Amino acid sequence: MTSVIDLRSDTVTQPSPAMREAMFHAAVGDDVYGDDPTVNELERLAAAKVGKEAALLVTSGTMGNLCGVLSHCQRGDEVIVGDKCHIYNYEAGGVSVLGGVAMHTVHTTAKGELPLADLAAAVRNREDPHSAYTRLVCLENTHGGCGGVVVAPSYMAQVKAWAHANDLQVHLDGARVFNAAVALGVDVKEITQHVDSVQFCMSKGLSAPIGSILAGSADLIRKARRLRKMVGGGMRQAGVIAAAGIVALTEMVDRLAEDHVHAKVLAHGLASIPGIRIDPNQIETDIVVFGLSDGRSAGDFAAAMTAKGVLVGAFGPGKIRAVTHYGIDGNHIEQTLEVVRAVMATPPTADGQPVQGAYR
Ligand SMILES: *Cc1c(COP(=O)(O)O)cnc(C)c1O
Repeated sequence: MTSVIDLRSDTVTQPSPAMREAMFHAAVGDDVYGDDPTVNELERLAAAKVGKEAALLVTSGTMGNLCGVLSHCQRGDEVIVGDKCHIYNYEAGGVSVLGGVAMHTVHTTAKGELPLADLAAAVRNREDPHSAYTRLVCLENTHGGCGGVVVAPSYMAQVKAWAHANDLQVHLDGARVFNAAVALGVDVKEITQHVDSVQFCMSKGLSAPIGSILAGSADLIRKARRLRKMVGGGMRQAGVIAAAGIVALTEMVDRLAEDHVHAKVLAHGLASIPGIRIDPNQIETDIVVFGLSDGRSAGDFAAAMTAKGVLVGAFGPGKIRAVTHYGIDGNHIEQTLEVVRAVMATPPTADGQPVQGAYR
């Protein structure tokens, strides 16, 4: 094997040649003064793509969710989140630590949904001085913790109708919302119309080196702009980044379908390998999560794969995650399957300690 096949995440993508070219030639200015024409163009484009009044370029998905949640909420408010969501599990508790916003978790189904009955039960009595004030519900689509499943727009429509009837707002962690749209074969607005604000990442499957977008009403984005400054996200000649973002949104969305095909092929191949547990029908986008049923630990498996030039992620005890992305082709998938066959052909060590999985 000549080079490493990195399937740990779609965050490992390299910027495309068109992105590097656009970055090289980008017209820039001081974006804190609102003077960067390329950032302004990206924010207009992004807002239009997701059907919102305004958008804000932020450094990361984490910053987008943080500024989004804190724009909706005051200190002492409470946000309802799913127990498997990124905001609750992988953002260092930021909305609570930095924003004084409590997180109230509810059960997440395998489809990435928070059952409406559970949402209703999580809303606190606003007249009761014992209670934090329930202000916001966060959804995630695609749902990373559920293996990249697409959350149905029809479900999201129900949540929004219920939320608005109960004086609540809805924020979408749409880090991979374009994967969801491509998998469904719909315009992304068919998804984002059901939320008041959305964060999406340009630095994952869309392959930009840096950057996420927070979009919502003009009023919300005004608040978010102040919060972005507060957390140190006011960037200067950020057009260098935004130029890649424009390419991400104009050239890199449709090709996500290739990643989904590669993920399917990988899943079907894995299903035929003894000791691997996976239902290929559950693979909907670019994320392939599978189980090791021969007692082998995820850490041992990942280390053995790495030794043979294929990087995957440990996703919990006996669970592995592989993510397809720009730069991974059909040959890489075939090579990966060969390496998995070779690794699974060697017996597991008896004392393999399960490792706790971190993921990006
Ligand atoms: C990656 C991810 C984020 C955070 O994005 P960063 O750019 O890594 O901060 C948020 N939510 C979900 C669902 C993600 O997959």
